[in-house]
Amino acid sequence: MGRIRILSDNVANKIAAGEVVERPASVIKELLENSLDAGAFDIRIDAENAGRRLLRIQDDGCGMLRDDALLAFERHATSKLSDVKDLLAISTLGFRGEALPSIASVSRLLLETRSTEEQTGAAVEIAGGKLLRCDEIARPVGTAISVRDLFFNVPARKKFLRSDQTELAHIGSLVTHYSLGHPNKRFELYHEGRELLAVTPVSTLRDRAFQVFGSEIMQDLVELAPRRFELRLPPPYVPPGARTHEPPPEPDVAEFVLEGLVSGPHVQKQNRNSVYLFVNGRLIRDKMLQHALQAAYYNLMPAGCYPFALLFLNCDPAEVDVNVHPSKTEVRFRHGSAIHDFVRDAVRDVLMESRPVSSIPLPPSPPIRKASPEAREQRAVELPFSEFSARMEAIALDEPETDATRDVAPTHETEERAPEIFVPSVQPPVTIANHAPAPATPSAKIRRVPDTHGALDHMAPDWDRVETYAALPDLRPLGQLHDSFIVAAARDGLWIIDQHVAHERVLFEQILRQRAAGAVEIQQLLMPLVLQLTPAQNFEYARIADELNAHGLDTEPFGQRTIAIKAAPAGVGTADIEKIVTEILDIAESELRSASLDEIRRNVSATIACRAAIKVNMRLEPKKIEWLLRALAACEYPMTCPHGRPIALRYSTKDILKSFHRI
Ligand code: ADP
Ligand code: MG
Repeated sequence: MGRIRILSDNVANKIAAGEVVERPASVIKELLENSLDAGAFDIRIDAENAGRRLLRIQDDGCGMLRDDALLAFERHATSKLSDVKDLLAISTLGFRGEALPSIASVSRLLLETRSTEEQTGAAVEIAGGKLLRCDEIARPVGTAISVRDLFFNVPARKKFLRSDQTELAHIGSLVTHYSLGHPNKRFELYHEGRELLAVTPVSTLRDRAFQVFGSEIMQDLVELAPRRFELRLPPPYVPPGARTHEPPPEPDVAEFVLEGLVSGPHVQKQNRNSVYLFVNGRLIRDKMLQHALQAAYYNLMPAGCYPFALLFLNCDPAEVDVNVHPSKTEVRFRHGSAIHDFVRDAVRDVLMESRPVSSIPLPPSPPIRKASPEAREQRAVELPFSEFSARMEAIALDEPETDATRDVAPTHETEERAPEIFVPSVQPPVTIANHAPAPATPSAKIRRVPDTHGALDHMAPDWDRVETYAALPDLRPLGQLHDSFIVAAARDGLWIIDQHVAHERVLFEQILRQRAAGAVEIQQLLMPLVLQLTPAQNFEYARIADELNAHGLDTEPFGQRTIAIKAAPAGVGTADIEKIVTEILDIAESELRSASLDEIRRNVSATIACRAAIKVNMRLEPKKIEWLLRALAACEYPMTCPHGRPIALRYSTKDILKSFHRI
């Protein structure tokens, strides 16, 4: 019987290891979480051979009592939960008591620890789940765990590991993001003696993000200062028989606090890899929060693009269930939809307030690796965002850096994307960046500008300000480019505005306002327009007919799969009315299947605005240009059209000066 129990425990540990220990980075995740739970402020990680040969983590946490050091390797041994009630409100990162036995079952592990409460510490050595020794040792307070030869006894697992670069990138990315979650702590990560990350304690997330990403990237991010949300919970149910005459208890209030950093809508990523969500200090993946973030950028960013975001949501542990999966990366919220809307609105509000502006892209500055030592020292990590992984993979680990490896390392996103401005009647497409003179590079030999060129002394030296739309109300129109783009001067540089998307934004906000007030301006049609629908369109029509009507598209069924349009929003040409309705129905069918009413409403407004807006290739009277700029300045969100395209580009005074080698 005893044998059977031992065997099943061993197998159970390996099974648990299958779920918990997928790769070296998952070992680091578990050990790092243990160190954080132990209250450590100083964490150092060393890896060899991308974590296959060695992973070592040292912390200055509370350490373990000698008796506990061995117990910690028993299955389900934890100091963090004592009874089932605790499961309802987990405030620590760990709680399952599975990590240490799982890791010890698939590696050669050495634990050295000393508790604050004891004079001597303990060393425990285990290989493949078998205890080799347990000794009393002298060492400082805290814990050090070395994990050697991961998966030495599970060759099948080993085969699933990817290249050294990939495995190391996962480790790097993980440690980096935990460091962002804990700015007040020191984190160091070394690979074979080479420093990959070293951050000292700082007091704010912004400071930590600056340490990690450097100043360049910080320019693209806006800060979401802590924002509170109180959810009033209904009082507990009292059966009628048990009711007393006492006044009902005050409803409980659950408090949520959200803070973080998010990118402006001009940072458009191809996937969600740059979205980091922390709930009560735990890095998680969560569809609901992802959706809330996506919804915040709805109508600001094209569909299928994703922002960079670092969001920290803190709440009462009872509000979130973390016991969903052994790797503890998924959570379930008790009041999911209220939190969804809170996160969406908080992010949207901060985007509205900050209004970051797209600048005219200059030719890419040299890749980070070629930058001067000073520039490089600015970042604690050479590799920003999740390009961390991509870049780690691109750089040969031990080879000396060659030109070839430099070239494959992708540069920062904003450097890569040179949004093209395409003017239909002009060949070839015009990229403004091509026309900008090359900026000075550190390696280029720059001749000093002789003093005779004169300084721009009348200009306030404030061109280092964060780029915003603040100058928009004072734009002085200079003219129109290709009958499509308005060129204007402002105190902060030269602006180019796409007349179509600018007008689209103006109309979009106007329609949304009128729609909310139930006062959409309409035009009655002399003859109703009759429209034949496909079965799919007909189905969508039934779903969104009310929304069409509320937008001034007065329609009614007219026989089988046919509708009659009797009125349309003012300002829309008759020829466009039919197109608007078909377009809305088609989008509803393909993209908005699971959309909320709010998304459908915004989409209907966006489609109408797009059709009614001034087109490109249209000459505008100076008066009309002035009117458009004023109307745009009055917009709540004058940065992108409802489909997410940028409205304005700015060639900042600073960049102009740089390009002319004046600064
Ligand atoms: P869990 O974290 O779910 O409790 P683990 O297997 O990860 O389970 O760890 C088991 C126990 O070992 C923890 O509950 C904790 O008491 C102790 N422990 C692990 N790592 C450390 C550490 N770095 N410092 C102090 N105690 C630790
Ligand atoms: Mg743990």
